[in-house]
Amino acid sequence: MSRIIGIDLGTTNSLAAVWQDGGSRLIPNAFGEYLTPSVVSIGEDGTVYVGKTAKERLASHPDATAGAFKRFMGTSRKYMLAGKSYSPEELSAFVLKKLREDAERYLGEPVEEAVISVPAYFNDMARNATKRAGIIAGLRVERIINEPSAAALACQNRNEEEDAVLLVFDFGGGTLDVSLVECFDNVIEIQAVSGDNQLGGQDFDEMIEKHFIRSMEISAEGLSPETKAIIRKSAEKCKKDLTREKTAEMVVNCKDIQKKMEISRKDVVNICAPLFERMGKPISRVLMDAGVSADQISHIVLVGGSCKMPVVRQYIGHLLGRNDMETLEPDHMIALGCGVCAGIKERDEEVKDMLLTDICPFSLGVDIMNIQNPAKPFMSFIIERNTALPVSRESMYANALDNQPEVRVRIYQGEAMYAEDNMRLGELVFKIPRMPKGKVQCFVRFTYDINGVLEVEVRIPVTGEQKRLVIVNKELGMSEEEVAKKLKEFEKIKVNPADEEENRYILEWGQRLFMQTNSEKIREELVKKLQYFEYVMKNDPYHLSKVRKYTTVFFASIEGILNQYVSFTDDVLSDGSWYREEDEEEREIDDLFKAWDNKDQEDQERED
Ligand code: ADP
Ligand code: MG
Repeated sequence: MSRIIGIDLGTTNSLAAVWQDGGSRLIPNAFGEYLTPSVVSIGEDGTVYVGKTAKERLASHPDATAGAFKRFMGTSRKYMLAGKSYSPEELSAFVLKKLREDAERYLGEPVEEAVISVPAYFNDMARNATKRAGIIAGLRVERIINEPSAAALACQNRNEEEDAVLLVFDFGGGTLDVSLVECFDNVIEIQAVSGDNQLGGQDFDEMIEKHFIRSMEISAEGLSPETKAIIRKSAEKCKKDLTREKTAEMVVNCKDIQKKMEISRKDVVNICAPLFERMGKPISRVLMDAGVSADQISHIVLVGGSCKMPVVRQYIGHLLGRNDMETLEPDHMIALGCGVCAGIKERDEEVKDMLLTDICPFSLGVDIMNIQNPAKPFMSFIIERNTALPVSRESMYANALDNQPEVRVRIYQGEAMYAEDNMRLGELVFKIPRMPKGKVQCFVRFTYDINGVLEVEVRIPVTGEQKRLVIVNKELGMSEEEVAKKLKEFEKIKVNPADEEENRYILEWGQRLFMQTNSEKIREELVKKLQYFEYVMKNDPYHLSKVRKYTTVFFASIEGILNQYVSFTDDVLSDGSWYREEDEEEREIDDLFKAWDNKDQEDQERED
């Protein structure tokens, strides 16, 4: 049997995990360590060094060594190492191959497949480059998972809770990624992402290094590259020592003179004040984008090596006014989540089948008539960039001209206003009866899954004609068999017939409550909820179970209020105090609506 492993392919460090004995377990490398530096170095004889050894060569053989190449995944950037050119995906493939070999040795079994995590903001090209890196390393990569989803998965797996709102603060070596992740009904959905791709642990090293050079009165110009590299290394060591101790010592021999500096955590806070300031920005952006306040977060999940720093934790706690943070093994979280995902893929019974969602990195739509300039059709977006995946949406169009003989539905990907400036993905053509403009309706449904497969379904009710087109990610060249498998999976995304009865019930229930109450406020609110529910039923089946849940809770509370006051009314009629009852009813409803306003805002934001 061959195994599936989960891989956190990091900018600074990479890790692998596997589902074993009912849990996600990290795989040690040849040094017995979990972290393998994402560094590649080419020796004089062509030997490829990966990890710790390569990292050592960064200072001694800078021309033959590369690190942090993940930043350029999916771009045309090349690295010249020892006279040979390498792409970021080839360098990543070396790291993946190393992890794979370590895993095979550790497991004593062949490893042919991997689930690899990537930053949520990675575009399609960077994701495909990651998949190709896997292929080069001899790994099938069917599943790419977003890093914050992986962290959430690890956290959920540990806490065994149902629904939660997680703030994932991933602070690595060179990047900060903040995400708001919602977990409900076995679905993990990223609500918002933000970050600073120029802020990481290295900036702390640099600040400490500068402080050392300044306070030791060393002239930076006269330093050899080797000494510079040593100072930088001891600055990092000093930072790490401060994670364990309140004070640390930094000792470096500069031009044969021993320079010694003592530094405290408080010093780091002072020296690095600008870095702390930058840390807060993505947090507030994410909360604002997701319409969530700090106290609505169920867990603050600290991820990445830099979150080990007590001063960082303290600062985040201070910003959010909380001190209940998930701080266990921050630098293992993503890999552990990938291991859970690998377990799901292997269908281990102990793992719940969590449905992971991704964010669509680009917009998808069709072209529509531009009356002013028919040669330059406009783009009409059906799935907007940043929409949570999988998603299924339908839009209605109509013939733009009188007696138009046919309609052409051209499918595009991209953000430009004019269709021709976007990437064309395919086309469906229909003959239509000659009728006045606007009379021939045409329904276009886009269903897009997390593996980059887009299904387009077009329906013309007047003729009853219906066509379907499946657009797979060309670069990956999927077989027909795989496409057939994907199509089956699509059925899950669309309406589940078993739900239909429940939907019907909700609609009836809402209407009955509408009749039962005479409060204008409640009626207004019921209509809003019913309309929204119907909208989601028709257009967004994927979110239906969540919205159904919220709607049920809402209707149940309205029911509660109505019942309470029905009986209360009967009782108090005799003592004539029923005005107060009205007041109280209004007040209670107000409170309820206030709570719901927040929820609505969120729903609205998803719609927008
Ligand atoms: P990436 O996601 O970029 O691959 P990691 O999550 O592995 O990176 O984080 C690497 C960063 O974490 C480095 O800057 C490193 O110095 C820092 N780091 C690792 N361990 C500690 C520690 N004990 N204390 C402080 N910083 C640490
Ligand atoms: Mg990382």
